[in-house]
Amino acid sequence: MAIQEAIVDRLVTIPKQHSPLVTSKFQKARVRIGVFIQLFRIVFRKTGKVSTAFKSIFRIKRKYESIFGEPYLVKIAKVNDRYFWRLAAPGFPSKASFEMQTNEANRFFPTQQRTGLRSLVFAITNKCPLNCEHCCEWPNLNKEERLSTSEIIRIIHKYQDYGTTQIMLSGGEPMLRINDIYTILNTAREGTDFWIITSGLGLSAVRAQKLKDAGLTGVMVSLDHYDRYKHNSFRGYEKAYNTTQKPLNSLKTTIRYCW
Ligand code: SF4
Repeated sequence: MAIQEAIVDRLVTIPKQHSPLVTSKFQKARVRIGVFIQLFRIVFRKTGKVSTAFKSIFRIKRKYESIFGEPYLVKIAKVNDRYFWRLAAPGFPSKASFEMQTNEANRFFPTQQRTGLRSLVFAITNKCPLNCEHCCEWPNLNKEERLSTSEIIRIIHKYQDYGTTQIMLSGGEPMLRINDIYTILNTAREGTDFWIITSGLGLSAVRAQKLKDAGLTGVMVSLDHYDRYKHNSFRGYEKAYNTTQKPLNSLKTTIRYCW
């Protein structure tokens, strides 16, 4: 299977994409208005008063700026007809984006029970061939797996029921459980954006396409230094830099990292 994938991967040619960054002020304004309208609908349904809704939105905006240290929607990227402005925010428009704003609005109304969870980083494996300097999991790596695929799916469903709008699959190296990831994605419920946090190991154009078809939003590939030797040394693995560049080369451009 892996050999077949490698052969197909060599044959795959992907047309170069344009930058997903939204640079047009007009388009940015449209996105901001769209996000505002979504939030207004959510808050107005709770308050029933236009003036209270505006005041609540202002408080939410101020809270956001105090937490993230920047105004809402500064840098926006458009991928697959959805807009992204933070790694921790699901693409807009989507059920996940609507849920995230509903959860945030709920925090401002004490009578609302459900506040959900914005992002969950879920380590689905302890296997990893790297030896990164910053790793705090060394004593736990490469032991027997603790969670079966069905247990992972059960946990994910619980978090989805709790209102988690973004789940990042991590590890160890999550790509080592690629077949499980396909199953996880295929059985996941609507309303959550899924990402993979990876060193790039085992990521290829063929797998990227399969992951996308299964519903993955994107992958984050960790690159610690532009100098290959420094990156390899930090990661404790002489092929670490190549594993970040291979998917880059086969996918032609970094834009492919978020689809
Ligand atoms: S890739 Fe992650 S799990 Fe593996 S050694 Fe590095 S920090 Fe640790």
